Amino acid sequence: MTQLTQKDLEERNQQLEERTPQELIRWAKDVFGSRLAAISAMQSAGSIVCCMMGQMKLNIPVLFVDTGVLFQETLDTRDRIQKEYGLEIVTLSPKQTMAEQIQEKGVLYLSPEGQEVCCDLRKTEPLHAVADQYDGIISSLRRGDGGKRAKMPILSVDPKMNCIRINPLATFSNEQMEEFSANNNVITNPLHDQGYPTIGCNRCTTPVLPDEPKRAGRWRHLGPWSMYCGINATDVEGGTEGKVDLSLDLIDRILGRETDYVI
Ligand code: SF4
Repeated sequence: MTQLTQKDLEERNQQLEERTPQELIRWAKDVFGSRLAAISAMQSAGSIVCCMMGQMKLNIPVLFVDTGVLFQETLDTRDRIQKEYGLEIVTLSPKQTMAEQIQEKGVLYLSPEGQEVCCDLRKTEPLHAVADQYDGIISSLRRGDGGKRAKMPILSVDPKMNCIRINPLATFSNEQMEEFSANNNVITNPLHDQGYPTIGCNRCTTPVLPDEPKRAGRWRHLGPWSMYCGINATDVEGGTEGKVDLSLDLIDRILGRETDYVI
């Protein structure tokens, strides 16, 4: 096994900067093969990636973390995407129901400290439980999301999952999103039309007013210190510090190096 850091990806990221989302998805499939999955929370950007993958027919499974307290509209969107785009959706669930968790630990999501624990238990842990199955995970984060994502690279290391995250929509603008959605009639979570620019658990997501930031409806009850759940390494302070251990052959393919085997 060989180690790879975020710094090692710098040059490759520059080379990939001009690629289209579809070219990046195909590149990821070529590089990671059957050890590639996508992850989607069934929001607008995730739906676009799912639509592209459905059109490309690359048999990339989609991981979906069902925290047990999602909106029915989100679950219905997942079911439509699975059926209409012909994708394999792998639903991941926490060990406990929310009722069991509350009985054992109280209502965690009512405090900033508790929210971190709750998101760990209900989002991050179910995803990390399948980490050994994948070397590459396609996400749908965009620089246009602003905040911590404004300078996000296309490829990033995720040391906790020991994999590479690929963000094919990193450079996709709001206008490109709208155009692709309209031209391809992309299946969209209906909550987006009801004042929810971003959508998470029903306990921690509200609509936003027209003049509020997009993420104002996430953990509104906790104030501005709880803006992200931690499921994406690039959203977390120091989340891409550290190394991932991958085979030399795979690292060569990620970096686009010629492999020089001595027999
Ligand atoms: S978003 Fe809220 S309910 Fe959902 S896992 Fe995080 S803290 Fe818990």
